[in-house]
Amino acid sequence: AFALTGCSSERGGDTGSGSGDEATKGFAADATIGVALPDKTSENWVLAGQLFTDGLEKAGFKADVQYAPASNTVAEQQNQIQAMVTGGAKVIIIGAKDGKQLTTQVEAARDAGVAVIAYDRLIENTDAVDYYVAFDNFEVGKLQGQALLDGLAERAGHEAPYNIELFSGSPDDANSAVFFNGAMEVLQPKIDDGTLNVVSGQTEISQTATEGWKPENAQRRMDSILTSTYGSETLDGVLSPNDTLARAIITSVQGAGKPVPVVTGQDSEVESVKSIMEGVQYSTINKDTTLLVEQAIKMVGQLQKGDEVDVNDTDQYDNGKKVVPAYLLPPVIVTKENAAEAYANVPSLLEIVKSYQ
Ligand code: BGC
Repeated sequence: AFALTGCSSERGGDTGSGSGDEATKGFAADATIGVALPDKTSENWVLAGQLFTDGLEKAGFKADVQYAPASNTVAEQQNQIQAMVTGGAKVIIIGAKDGKQLTTQVEAARDAGVAVIAYDRLIENTDAVDYYVAFDNFEVGKLQGQALLDGLAERAGHEAPYNIELFSGSPDDANSAVFFNGAMEVLQPKIDDGTLNVVSGQTEISQTATEGWKPENAQRRMDSILTSTYGSETLDGVLSPNDTLARAIITSVQGAGKPVPVVTGQDSEVESVKSIMEGVQYSTINKDTTLLVEQAIKMVGQLQKGDEVDVNDTDQYDNGKKVVPAYLLPPVIVTKENAAEAYANVPSLLEIVKSYQ
């Protein structure tokens, strides 16, 4: 996935137009940079806000970091972005609440000569998004699918076929389909050949979705599947797209008095890392937020100087209007077995892992 490392692209590419291109000539070294983050549906978002504030200020910029509140989230995020444009931000970094509903705001940004960087989540259906910076989401999905297979072989206590259920993230987050498709690239052949049996029959992303990435929604769906489908059957494994949902799924299964299945995750949240070390949750993904924020701030620095912006992927992220040049970082799968190694550079998590060894 990193064959293109080091490639660069002009801001806006061949679809860029209007006064937005002035940003290629750079801007003041102490300019204001807007950062619009979504609601705090996982620890990574909480951490990102602080890292952006500190990192941007250390780089000499003024940081205007805003979170969308938990209610009226989409409209509030739209207002926050609009206010950043009006307030004179030179770059706006956006972790979208709903990637399809920011067209007006990012087009206003472009018209004002403000560069837009989609952070972690793609912004869709507009050519006014200049860059995307994220962990490789499709790879995240593939790693989750493979971890589920590995975990089943290790822990199910019997040969295939294995009974599994599938969960995906919120439909308003462009990442959700990419994670799910990555996982299904690994799992679908095993469903087709009978190794895996999705007992509920719910294999379409519309059936597996978790509205708002809310744990209570995943828990409710798991409860209902257990009641309707797992009377006498054993549930061997669950594909969970992140840690918050993984813990809700585990809570549901435990509440039903059933043995904990192999459950995947993502984000390396503290409670999930503990759960993994205790042998409960099977896996998570390390997407080190520090590295992602650093890369985003590096992009800002390149825009400020009028330099070319580093990207390493120019074909995966078609947002419906343009292929958004992206810098993708490599995600790392984490199980109990490799946790110490995987968190070698994340002191707070390494400390937790060591406390179990
Ligand atoms: C992020 C995940 C996160 C999820 C819920 C996704 O867009 O990529 O890391 O678990 O949102 O917050």
